[in-house]
Amino acid sequence: MHRKELIRKYIEFFKSKGHKEIPNVSLIPENDPTVLFTTAGMHPLVNFLLGQEHPLGRRLCNVQKCIRTTDIEEVGDTYHHTFFEMLGNWSLGDYFKKEAIEMSFEFLTSKKWLGLNKNKIAISCFVGDKKESQIPKDTESSKVWQSMGVPKERIIFLGKKENWWGPAGKTGPCGPDTEMFYWVSKEKVPKEFDPDDEMWVEIWNDVFMQYNKTSEAKYKPLKQKNVDTGMGVERTLASLNNLDDNYKTEVFLPIIKKIEDLSGKKYNENLNITKTMRIIADHIKAAAFIIADGVLPSNTEQGYVLRRLIRKVVVHGEKLRMKNFTIKIAEPVFKIYDNYSHLQKNKDKIMKELEKEEKKFKLTLEKGMNKFKKLVSKNKKIPGRDAFLLYQSYGFPIEMTKELAKENGVSVDENEFIEEKRKHQKLSRTATKGRFKSGLADHSEQTKKLHTSAHLLLAALREILKDKKIMQKGSNITPERLRLDFSFTRKLTGEEIEKVEKWVNKKIDEAIPVIKKEMSPQEAKKQGALGIFDEKYGNKVFVYEIGNFSKEICAGPHVKNTNELGKFKIIKQDSVGEGARRIKAILE
Ligand code: ATP
Ligand code: MG
Repeated sequence: MHRKELIRKYIEFFKSKGHKEIPNVSLIPENDPTVLFTTAGMHPLVNFLLGQEHPLGRRLCNVQKCIRTTDIEEVGDTYHHTFFEMLGNWSLGDYFKKEAIEMSFEFLTSKKWLGLNKNKIAISCFVGDKKESQIPKDTESSKVWQSMGVPKERIIFLGKKENWWGPAGKTGPCGPDTEMFYWVSKEKVPKEFDPDDEMWVEIWNDVFMQYNKTSEAKYKPLKQKNVDTGMGVERTLASLNNLDDNYKTEVFLPIIKKIEDLSGKKYNENLNITKTMRIIADHIKAAAFIIADGVLPSNTEQGYVLRRLIRKVVVHGEKLRMKNFTIKIAEPVFKIYDNYSHLQKNKDKIMKELEKEEKKFKLTLEKGMNKFKKLVSKNKKIPGRDAFLLYQSYGFPIEMTKELAKENGVSVDENEFIEEKRKHQKLSRTATKGRFKSGLADHSEQTKKLHTSAHLLLAALREILKDKKIMQKGSNITPERLRLDFSFTRKLTGEEIEKVEKWVNKKIDEAIPVIKKEMSPQEAKKQGALGIFDEKYGNKVFVYEIGNFSKEICAGPHVKNTNELGKFKIIKQDSVGEGARRIKAILE
């Protein structure tokens, strides 16, 4: 089965069960301060999972491109990627465990749909937590699986680390999940399910949000119980084609082939080469998609992640003796994903940026090699501190340092390296780490206020700069500030900035109500609402109106009246590439 067919079937199946398809949105989250990237399909749905009404109803589904930087160290195995596509279906207070599991099982096994071998499926459920939360074992889910014909030996109960979803240590919705695994080995399927056996690969996860964790760490049943599922396209595609390695599927193979051609090495030559090729193939794809969504290599936020990805590609390419190669191995990405028009449209830009970053990094890499040579001449064993410096400042992965050291007859103090790295990570770890534990706790009042201010700011820019072609190109809001990117070609003058601020503050003083309306995208367009109309909206959208000067398609949330906002102040303006400007502003 091909990728496109898998995606088409998934959407078709869930549509036949009353779900509406929602768009595959940008990798860069809008209005979510807590994460750099969209890490799962549920991401743009956080507000709706918290109870806000969705314009398309209570049953939703889609395919969503994702980036998980938290998995970057796993890349090199057969089934973890930094970029992957996730299929998802959601119940917003509609169906719950029984129906969700029944649908999952039908889609996986029915001949009409995926027709996967029932005998190769295994399940994990939540074992319960008597100590802290008093939450019982999820026998309800396991019973449904058994009623579908999954034998007891193939159902295992695991703890919070594996089968619990929720904002750890914080408040908010949470609940148990049940995960589906598939046996990907050519060997005979073992009778019992052992989740530590890597040949059992997790392909799908059904999360049941049924509790609300209160500030006293009590778990109260939620009024609106949700289902949030996620199924990996790459892993499922491998399962469907009896492959034990995602890199052998059509979404990676053409890139691997290209690397083989350019390096003259074979993918299966030895595990080192295999891993190196996997990392290159994974990271080049992720880099292309991140650039396609408007990010450029830099030293902060998304740009820094992008930079690291490209640099790792170059370093690993070096190991295979490839030079000036990034754009060559990026080429197949555009063929594999020919359905992503934004990727196609940005091809020239993507290639240009890859080439530029590769050239630039080559210089750093050379400096790193000089540093390395000095270390080798001075030591029998390279200290961990220095290995970490090579890693941190020159982008040398430890495997590469070890290999180079070996070639030079010296060793590396790897334990000390690990210790250094751990110390460093402790310092840089943010609250956003962990699997999509994001967003939920942070949709605060202040974020809402800044979000409404962003609408006012856009209206002000169009008004003061007398240019109705000014559009929003992206926004990001933290509880501290708002950031708005918009199309405009020059720097604003001091006077213009002042005028914009004044205009916004006037609208705040006028105490204007913020009105939410529901309509079709066609109607919204007719009424002149701002939005990106080449994006697939559903057949219903929300439009937020402020006075007669601001009308935007937007999922919300917003304050009820502009008088709630406080004093608006612009703190910074920047250029963000061709034809776009960025403004950061606060509310005092
Ligand atoms: P794992 O434990 O294998 O890392 P996970 O528990 O992190 O998986 P979820 O967060 O439940 O996975 O995501 C839902 C689905 O998305 C998974 O069942 C899997 O099919 C897919 N998925 C998750 N992370 C990745 C990844 N890094 N690369 C490819 N697919 C992934
Ligand atoms: Mg994971």
